[in-house]
Amino acid sequence: MLMNNKVIFVFTIIIVALYSSLFADISVQIRGTTRPHNLRTQSIDGIDYVDTEVINPVFKSMLKHEYSDNKVFLYIYGEQFLFLLDTPYYTFGNNHYNMQYPILLRQSKTWLPAVFIREHLPQRLSDKISRSGSGLQVDVPPDRSVQTIVLDPGHGGRDPGAVGRTLRAKEKDINLAVARQLKAMLERELGVRVLITRDNDEFMSLGARTRFANDNRADLFVSIHTNSSTGRAGNGIETYYLSTAGTSDSRAVEALENNVVELYEEAGARQQYDALAFILSDLSQTEHLENSNTLATLVHQNLVAGTRGQDRGVRQANFFVLRGAFMPAILIELGFISNEDEEAKLVNPQYQNRLARTIFEGLKRFKYRYDRIRNT
Ligand SMILES: [Zn+2]
Repeated sequence: MLMNNKVIFVFTIIIVALYSSLFADISVQIRGTTRPHNLRTQSIDGIDYVDTEVINPVFKSMLKHEYSDNKVFLYIYGEQFLFLLDTPYYTFGNNHYNMQYPILLRQSKTWLPAVFIREHLPQRLSDKISRSGSGLQVDVPPDRSVQTIVLDPGHGGRDPGAVGRTLRAKEKDINLAVARQLKAMLERELGVRVLITRDNDEFMSLGARTRFANDNRADLFVSIHTNSSTGRAGNGIETYYLSTAGTSDSRAVEALENNVVELYEEAGARQQYDALAFILSDLSQTEHLENSNTLATLVHQNLVAGTRGQDRGVRQANFFVLRGAFMPAILIELGFISNEDEEAKLVNPQYQNRLARTIFEGLKRFKYRYDRIRNT
């Protein structure tokens, strides 16, 4: 009888331990901190799952969906995991792995099998994540809040950019004047580090501009330009982010801004950009496309509302200067220097100040939204 009780007792302990190890929340201890995070698990069809919205704030990770082909990307500790919805398979590096249970989309949330967090993460990212008891011990995740912004006044030096018809104003001067005012506002009022690709009238190749941003580990890249059209009527504001696709309209602007390569950069530069283009844009901008879109939209809305300029929309185009930027990147066309009224406004320091102010408001909104997502 005594023996039986003991057996039942031990058996119960084993069952409870097994059950709790299978269905318990996952404790995540960040090295150097005292209180562990608790990743809540939920049973779906009898399997333990974790909502990615619970994972992301702890690991400062990011999720991206490509609904058209059922792909889900998880960016964590600078690495990429590619999942196929409703399958247990994922790709990491060049290898494929099986989680046993599928990744799911339920109630517009993305659910990862808990076994991925408990076992696969520490195996794939063993230098950053290790198992500790039934939970994990992890390195401090990279702080991805917006701290450094690179402003890029387009053109400069021997490349004047577009030139006005009435006042002969040069695009390069307007871009620089607005960028300088914007830089001062961002530093003073948002407390971020702001670097400028050129702070005087000098020529700089397109490649050197993004390299500057990458080398300085910028969190955002904002290229500032002034538009031009063959007719005099064209007017208004456009904000772009990178894409290889585009409308014929945006292709015209793309040709205009990419022209610098042919006209002013050294021979062979274009082939160099083209050869690198797809590799670079694929590697660097895909991860940031959604954020680039958000950034472009927030800046554009504020610009249009604050200047009452004609809204020509947020667009996608394949700008050389945005390719290869390892961060959310946009290109702003402040207005048409080829239009008499707009040229007059663009050279006016008060109007330049308003342009800077409205771009500032857009960047501020983006930072607040982005930092909250990353650092809760
Ligand atoms: Zn330009």
